Amino acid sequence: MALNKQMLEENEMTGAGHARNDQYNAAAVWSIADKYRAILRDLGENPDREGLQKTPERVAKSLQFLTHGYQLDPAKILRSAMFHEEYQQMVIVKDIELYSLCEHHVLPFFGKCHVAYIPNGRIVGLSKIPRVVDAYARRLQVQERLTVEIRNCIEETLKPVGVAVVIEAQHMCMVMRGIQKQHSIATTSAFTGEFNTDKTRAEFMRLISRSSPVA
Ligand SMILES: [Zn+2]
Repeated sequence: MALNKQMLEENEMTGAGHARNDQYNAAAVWSIADKYRAILRDLGENPDREGLQKTPERVAKSLQFLTHGYQLDPAKILRSAMFHEEYQQMVIVKDIELYSLCEHHVLPFFGKCHVAYIPNGRIVGLSKIPRVVDAYARRLQVQERLTVEIRNCIEETLKPVGVAVVIEAQHMCMVMRGIQKQHSIATTSAFTGEFNTDKTRAEFMRLISRSSPVA
């Protein structure tokens, strides 16, 4: 998988938003595709029929893309754009699109992530926060751990007065597998420092629940 890493790091350096992984580890593609042909056979399909011939390879590439967060270093993403600044009010990045894979069923869960922090002498480029979310989301995850990993990364790297992370997501393993309350949204949250006080946390929750002025 080392091949991807260099490509993704180059992508980071050119500042190309969410790293779009168009290059793949050829050995891993071959190995995953080979197993996937066997899976198709086990499901009673014919992997040689026209529509499925290239499916194992596509799945292999798709899985590599959907888990490319393993190749990224989220703390490094933050450190690449940290600045000294005396601003000490809450900074909120809300409605960050989130796509991940549940590690129990390898099915998608997706929704929104809201992140806030209160700087303590250092701020971070705002665009880096969605990239940190993405770097952890593009792995096999559970929503609870994803929430805590994002919080801890910001806490440990930026050392702010406090961090808050809220994720609201819908899980395909609930929706597609016919479990009751199909449209239910799972909400998880993780806080540090100042956000553990009722007042600050309430202000954050009020601000993220407001409808967005754009889009
Ligand atoms: Zn699941």
